[in-house]
Amino acid sequence: MSQHLTNDCIFCKIIRGEIPSHKIAETDKSYAFLDINPISEGHTLVIPKYHSEFFHEVPEDYLADLLPLAKKVALAHGFEQYNLLQNNGPMAHQVVKHVHFHIINKPNREQGLGVGWPQQQVTQDQLKSTLIKVKEKL
Ligand code: 5GP
Ligand code: ZN
Repeated sequence: MSQHLTNDCIFCKIIRGEIPSHKIAETDKSYAFLDINPISEGHTLVIPKYHSEFFHEVPEDYLADLLPLAKKVALAHGFEQYNLLQNNGPMAHQVVKHVHFHIINKPNREQGLGVGWPQQQVTQDQLKSTLIKVKEKL
């Protein structure tokens, strides 16, 4: 496990116990702990015990372990409404460069994450063109 962690990453240090955290649960491949600056009560981070900046760099076996742990933690918190969020890259608001899923409780309209979606109107042709581009690379 430790061969997949780095020395200069804050979340790798948390996994190794070099920086304290409020750990909720862990498996041999994943670690869940409370966010130090919660957006709402119970804001949790679930991370792979594998250092990589981007979601698409995490091996399948680590990803397969991560979401069941996130589900277990969401159920244990008893969140009825919440966001499961994962940011990739600074333009997508990623600050810590170790892949992490946020579980953010939405206990009422006022508390929790406020998300504004800048949705665009597109044509069927534009959707088809996007589809062709992505399917070519699968
Ligand atoms: P990002 O913006 O990268 O998606 O979110 C990073 C999250 O990590 C933030 O919500 C921030 O509060 C949290 N965080 C940063 N450093 C620490 C830390 O040392 N301990 C804990 N528990 N959370 C941290
Ligand atoms: Zn790391």
